[in-house]
Amino acid sequence: MERTLVMIKPDGVERNLVGKVISIFEENGLKVVALKKVRLSKKQAEAFYIVHKERPFYDSLTTYMSSGPIVAMVLEGENAIKKVREIMGATDPAEAKEGTIRKLFGIDKEKNTVHGSDSPESAAKEIPFFFSEFELIAAE
Ligand code: UDP
Ligand code: MG
Repeated sequence: MERTLVMIKPDGVERNLVGKVISIFEENGLKVVALKKVRLSKKQAEAFYIVHKERPFYDSLTTYMSSGPIVAMVLEGENAIKKVREIMGATDPAEAKEGTIRKLFGIDKEKNTVHGSDSPESAAKEIPFFFSEFELIAAE
């Protein structure tokens, strides 16, 4: 069993896609372990995306990610990290495969509706960014 951190980004929350996005993950066998709606400050968004600090899209991305509430969740399942990445689709919705969340709902390369951890190392950093040990243990 593996756990991964997923966010429904401001464009998804704003368009009332929270239920639809979670349904797609659940239909694919993933379990919601923990869930919360929060609004990140610009500083918190910068900290979350610190690995992209040198990228040209960093400022725009972190401004966007702090522009409205997001829904953060921990999903669990076999190969959850890779599975979530497949269900989400490519970063750019225009390049994402049919049936993926980003193909269905993504607006553009930035406002692409969902985030999912890209590796076990990322998940190990991203899960505690949002959820305390208590919240994770209490869900079992
Ligand atoms: N992003 C962007 N422009 C780009 C590449 C990425 O605005 O050219 C944004 C987009 O919201 C993406 C996030 O930055 O989801 C993180 O980028 P990454 O390359 O890690 O894509 P992901 O892992 O989310 O598919
Ligand atoms: Mg990434």
